[in-house]
Amino acid sequence: MKKTLSTRIKQAGRGQIIYFGRKYESTDVFSRITGKAMLVHTKICRMKGFLVFSAFLSMLLLPANSVMAVDWEAMRSQMIDMDITPRGIWNPAVLKAMKQVPRHEFVPQHIRKLAYADRPLPIGEGQTISQPFVVAWMSQLLELEKGMKVLEIGTGSGYQAAVLAAMGANTYSMEIKPNLAREVKIRLKKLGYKVEVRQGDGYYGWIEHAPFDRIIITAAANHVPRPLLDQLKLGGKLILPLGNVRYSQNMTLIEKDSQGKMHTSQHGQVRFVPMVGVAQE
Ligand code: SAH
Repeated sequence: MKKTLSTRIKQAGRGQIIYFGRKYESTDVFSRITGKAMLVHTKICRMKGFLVFSAFLSMLLLPANSVMAVDWEAMRSQMIDMDITPRGIWNPAVLKAMKQVPRHEFVPQHIRKLAYADRPLPIGEGQTISQPFVVAWMSQLLELEKGMKVLEIGTGSGYQAAVLAAMGANTYSMEIKPNLAREVKIRLKKLGYKVEVRQGDGYYGWIEHAPFDRIIITAAANHVPRPLLDQLKLGGKLILPLGNVRYSQNMTLIEKDSQGKMHTSQHGQVRFVPMVGVAQE
């Protein structure tokens, strides 16, 4: 710019200049033109500075971005190979669903890195998302078939519900905490899982959609809520962590036979957050 200016402004004589072939008498004109040109020049310089600065910034950020691009799918596969299959999960539908559902989308942003570790994680309101193995285990014990109607009590993050939906279940889920219920409805919709979520105490079940082929309670209870047993179809199965809600529970499967008789089997110790509401009274 400096060069252009000096080649275009020529000193023509005392108090005279030639600018773009025109002769100007007053030095005021000269200073006006130079002033404007300098202004443009300064702007360009500033822009150049900004461009150099942004280029520098992106150089700094680009490698950081590429380090942060996590391969979630690989982490899921690793979780299945290390924590799910070796512990006795063989059902292909369960494994397929666990391989598909992006668990990192169900945990708070700041602990996403831990999403595929085999452990429960906090999801707010003092609640937790169950550990992946327990989700797989409960899903397998239910012996779910495509198209079955399933009721979950304790939607929480929505992860278990998403796994059931991915297995082809017609999924209904109830969550007692209004904030969690609101968030999970948005999350499941955004991720494209067809799950009906209702906020309320799951103790009484969801009578409008009963009876259910399967019922899964993902919070600890010291007894089986009677209304849920009533809303189970003949030949249906209900699973829950049953026992002392403050210490540990036993993974309990209840099967209602074709005559309506209940058969109970226990599968091992677990620790869940307690079922609240009427169940505690
Ligand atoms: N299945 C969830 C985790 C369950 S944590 C997931 O995959 O993330 C237990 C959840 O049960 C909590 O969100 C808690 O608020 C909810 N809960 C507890 N008592 C309940 C009740 N009576 N009815 C419905 N939900 C209940």
